[in-house]
Amino acid sequence: MPALPRAILFDLDDTLIRAYAQPEEAWTRLLNVFATHLDAHDPAAIERVRAAVMEEARAFWSDSAAAAKWRLDIPGARRLSVRRGLARLGRADDALADRIADSFTELRRQEYRLYPDAHATVDALRDAGVRLALVTNGAAATQRAKIERFELAHRFHHIQIEGEFGQGKPELAVYRHALERLGVDASDAWMVGDNYEWEVVAPQALGMRGIWYDPFEAGVPTQATAKPSRIIKRLSELVE
Ligand SMILES: [Mg+2]
Repeated sequence: MPALPRAILFDLDDTLIRAYAQPEEAWTRLLNVFATHLDAHDPAAIERVRAAVMEEARAFWSDSAAAAKWRLDIPGARRLSVRRGLARLGRADDALADRIADSFTELRRQEYRLYPDAHATVDALRDAGVRLALVTNGAAATQRAKIERFELAHRFHHIQIEGEFGQGKPELAVYRHALERLGVDASDAWMVGDNYEWEVVAPQALGMRGIWYDPFEAGVPTQATAKPSRIIKRLSELVE
């Protein structure tokens, strides 16, 4: 076992479970199901719809105040992005947009997967005496359902969900509260996750180490000011 801190805070989505990563392929697959309704009869036509929807989603999520609100209603946010995407193409149809968005939400839900080394890594850390917290943004019911489905609750000493706690990452109060619940100082704790702002920049500002999980080898964002304390491509690297 390598040198470990007294506590580790883990992100949930796209860190312990694969949830929302790489949306391009999922959108293309889903939009093909609706090809007739969209009057999109070849790959180029599908691609135009996918690009319009994803551009609207990007614009939508880049407003951090709006994002903080809509994180608690991701299905609603998807409906809005698809409505705007169809409107951008001159094909506004809110009823169709909502059906497509809801189908995407269900497709993603069905395809959530635990990363294969997640349980073993978390259990090994716990067995080694590390205090563990799961710190996730999102709605209480949505996140609780994932925690249940993937048998995560009993593995952590503390679970903190944005929709229950009332604040989400990157608010520093979120990390401070988790550290307090674990009884550990920031300097004795790591945060592990895939979101650069939430799991590297903010925790480091508090004196924690920010371990960036980069399973698809996207690389450090070019505009990044903070440097990750460490980059891992697999969770099991934490215990090797
Ligand atoms: Mg994440």
